[in-house]
Amino acid sequence: MLLLIPGPVQTRPEVRAAMAQDIAPWDNDFKAVLTGIRAKVLALAGGMVGRHEALMLQGCGHFIMEAAIRTFVPAGTGKILIPLNGTYAGRVERLAREAGRQVVTLTLPETRAVAPEEIAAALAADPGITHVAMVYSETGGGIVNDPNLIGPVVHAAGRRLILDAVSAFGALPFSLAEHPECDAVMFTSGKCLEALPGIGFAVVDTARVQACAGNAGSWSFDLNDVYGQVLRAGPGSFRFTPPVQVLAAFGAALDYHAAEGQPARLARYRENSRVFHQGMRRIGLKPYLEEAQQGPIINIIHQPPDPGFELQRFVDELKRREVLISNFYNTPTPTFRVGCIGDVTPADMERAVAMVDETLAALQIRQRA
Ligand SMILES: *Cc1c(COP(=O)(O)O)cnc(C)c1O
Repeated sequence: MLLLIPGPVQTRPEVRAAMAQDIAPWDNDFKAVLTGIRAKVLALAGGMVGRHEALMLQGCGHFIMEAAIRTFVPAGTGKILIPLNGTYAGRVERLAREAGRQVVTLTLPETRAVAPEEIAAALAADPGITHVAMVYSETGGGIVNDPNLIGPVVHAAGRRLILDAVSAFGALPFSLAEHPECDAVMFTSGKCLEALPGIGFAVVDTARVQACAGNAGSWSFDLNDVYGQVLRAGPGSFRFTPPVQVLAAFGAALDYHAAEGQPARLARYRENSRVFHQGMRRIGLKPYLEEAQQGPIINIIHQPPDPGFELQRFVDELKRREVLISNFYNTPTPTFRVGCIGDVTPADMERAVAMVDETLAALQIRQRA
């Protein structure tokens, strides 16, 4: 089966095999594994030893995003600007509002990235804004908001950046050393790092996280306390029981990431995305984005307007042809979504295009766009 979803992704058998063991979290052998993972993740994020720290939280991407918002944005005096150009930005907004944080949104079309001038204008208009929380690769529509363009604007305005790089990190470039305005960059084990789901990462500015004691209003979601654990008990320790097998597999996946290298991984995903996008046009379907706006992580395709098209049936028929895609969509109009990340190649994407074509023919969907 070819798994084409934007996380959890298709993984290498060697990565999955690394899970097949019993592990004690406090065991010295495992502490060494965890210490190594922390150092490698810090380096991958362009973090500087002493100035930044790689923190981990059990669970999904939403959990680590909530922890970052609660920790870095104080209730009352903090205010977050969120450029809204997709569902995942909307999720950041909801996390922030439910945590009782002040939020200002900048609503944009889902079909293009936010421009630096738009952020600059929004920050100039409201001096009360303390943070910008932005989604790097928007998994809703498939566009990419570039922190390397937005970060300098946030920096110039004297505000702080919180970056949801959950679906980007490991492929799209980001280096904390070049982003002094960044409080924290977040990602998970199960997307472009091609490991299993279960761990959220926040690589943080240590001076900032230390200044944020008492902000979180939650023990579980307090990155100041997570950092405190690293200081108290060392980098090989966790506060509460970690998913040890997932961490062991993550360590193996990091080795494959290092062997491939971030630029080559990005190039492979870009080619996966290009092959699929152009393939969809070739077989008469309409992609959600223009090719120039299409990011490398996920392709969104308009559902055929044919009255006979039904998403779950299409997904089931495609699965019978060994290609598994999402059975839901996150856009305002009906679409289907296809991930371009994980242990998959452009040849796999060509096969997926052929199978989509065959499936539509089998389902007698004549009107494709
Ligand atoms: C996957 C993803 C998340 C987190 O999703 P979880 O299901 O909570 O792991 C957050 N932001 C973006 C942009 C994502 O793609």
